[in-house]
Amino acid sequence: MKNDILNQKKQKSPALNGFSFNEIGDDHLFTSLETPMKANAFAMSDAEKKERISILFAEIMDVLGLDLNDDSLSGTPNRVAKMYVEEIFSGLDPKNKPKIALFDNKYQYNQMLVEKNITFYSNCEHHFVPIIGKAHIAYISSGKVIGLSKLNRIVQYYAKRPQVQERLTNQIAEELKSVLQTDDVAVIIDAKHLCVSSRGVKDDTSSTVTSFYGGKFNSTTKITELQNYINN
Ligand SMILES: [Zn+2]
Repeated sequence: MKNDILNQKKQKSPALNGFSFNEIGDDHLFTSLETPMKANAFAMSDAEKKERISILFAEIMDVLGLDLNDDSLSGTPNRVAKMYVEEIFSGLDPKNKPKIALFDNKYQYNQMLVEKNITFYSNCEHHFVPIIGKAHIAYISSGKVIGLSKLNRIVQYYAKRPQVQERLTNQIAEELKSVLQTDDVAVIIDAKHLCVSSRGVKDDTSSTVTSFYGGKFNSTTKITELQNYINN
């Protein structure tokens, strides 16, 4: 069954603009703004997923030659399975999406609101190693406001998936547009990819910046104002 999954992927490769899977991974190209999910992604319960992942991860460790009878290693497959399902990939499941309540903009505040330096941890979908970054979010109220902690929670929800930074940026922006009922949102993400610093090209100093400017943020004045808030 496992081999079938890999073979299917090979057959699909011509659709990827002629790039090989290695090129897709190391150049961090991606194919879709939606996280690519199977139609039956939630057919298994969380408990069943943890059980399966634990067995499969034990096999990876075994193939690598590790002794799973060692006290330090014996609990690792279970720990990894629990961490994948309950923590670092919990944002794949819509049931974990933060519930957002909006409030009336009673103070009639009509300038941009900026929530900056939201620390997040995600994982690169090409290598399954961490992406560590800061997100800066801004919006201009359309008459409704959102609790500040919810901005943070939206970032964390989409970060807790195997990701590429461009998609993370756009998914956060689309969610903000939807919940705040406005196009006037901006998202800037500055992140370090451990697959670039700890392996591959081994560049420890670079970081990647991506941005989304919607509606009123599509102006040089607004972008400059936003960047001043972020940089100071
Ligand atoms: Zn990567």
